[in-house]
Amino acid sequence: MLNDEIRNDFPFFKDNDLIYLDNAATTQKPQMVIDRLTNDYVNNSFNVHRSNYMAAQKTTDAYENVRHAVAKFIGAQNDKSIVFTNSTTDGINLVANGYFINQIQAGDEIVVAISEHHSNLLPWQRIAKQKQAHLRYIEITTDGRLNINQAAEVINDSTKLVAVAAVSNVLGTLNPIEQLTTLAHQHHAQILIDAAQWAPEMPIDVSELKPDWLVFSGHKMLAPTGVGVLYGKPDLLEQILPPAVGGEMVLSVDREHFTQQQIPIRLEAGTPNVMGVLGLGAAIEYLNSVGMQNVQEHCQMLGQKIYNRLSKLDDVTVYGSTIRDTGIVTFNINGIHAHDVASALDLRGIAVRAGYHCAEPLIKALHTNSTVRASTYFYNTENEIDRFIEAINLTKEFFNSYGH
Ligand code: PMP
Repeated sequence: MLNDEIRNDFPFFKDNDLIYLDNAATTQKPQMVIDRLTNDYVNNSFNVHRSNYMAAQKTTDAYENVRHAVAKFIGAQNDKSIVFTNSTTDGINLVANGYFINQIQAGDEIVVAISEHHSNLLPWQRIAKQKQAHLRYIEITTDGRLNINQAAEVINDSTKLVAVAAVSNVLGTLNPIEQLTTLAHQHHAQILIDAAQWAPEMPIDVSELKPDWLVFSGHKMLAPTGVGVLYGKPDLLEQILPPAVGGEMVLSVDREHFTQQQIPIRLEAGTPNVMGVLGLGAAIEYLNSVGMQNVQEHCQMLGQKIYNRLSKLDDVTVYGSTIRDTGIVTFNINGIHAHDVASALDLRGIAVRAGYHCAEPLIKALHTNSTVRASTYFYNTENEIDRFIEAINLTKEFFNSYGH
């Protein structure tokens, strides 16, 4: 189990009493990532893959070394299967608009879970409409898990893609992605895993799981905003028609035509987010030193503690399974709007998110109009959870004494 001293690696907590429970939105940065970025801005501010003087070559090497570190981090055997993007949203849209738009035909089916984040729903909704294909949903069971029996009925020979999050950003559930991958492949469909909440909390091994596509964001795992990762099987990445063309991704250009570079550079048109990628490299180095198994255990322990404490309180509804997989817990205080709860907690120095959490169909399926979400990361402590529960009790008392 990680001890509380790990917080000392994060300068934000040194001068700040905020109890930060909005880690599913984005994470704080360790000093090591900040130092590395400062150094890179001072010493390595060169463009990549262009100039052949030594200083620029060093930055290109550093950029490509991060590609290798990312591949290792998720168990990918080939660096060519790693494309740097801006974010999870960007990666999914790249696959949707560069690949599936040319694959999906009228009558085909795309399967998503009802719990998808909008980023893994809207691109498929739009393609389904444009191509007169059908969007099919995997529903959740009463304990907030994906209904795998129903999934086995929904996924069929017309399915071309199963697009699911490994971990729901609302319920915090780890979905049965091994079974879904097997089901998809049995029907010759592809599977795209949204790993935005998975990559930050758990070890990933794509060589074991064998998804066709997998996407995540750097900023939810200690890296700067504006950098993300798309993993794709190389033969599939080869088939993407790059939505963006321009500098760097070409081999040769004449008046009428151009020929393209190899993957993955072909899919990284223009000057990439060099500093973001270098920052992601530092974040991965830091996470490897902590150990993803330790991160997983600590977050799961905190999530379980929040769940156990909240579910004992009167007038509190906690959504999802009694067994927690991650550090994300979603709930409501009955009769009090989630935004009021979040504002009351804010006044007590606690940051949580309230609303739809970019997963409106799920919130509607839970028969509510908004929820409060507390999401922990490995630098949160058990003491913070005690103070959070105390604040929930005081919030309940406050609203009850004034009526609502
Ligand atoms: N999918 C999931 C499951 C998420 O939690 C998020 C971020 N909340 C996203 C996609 C989108 O990530 P980003 O905003 O970094 O593109």
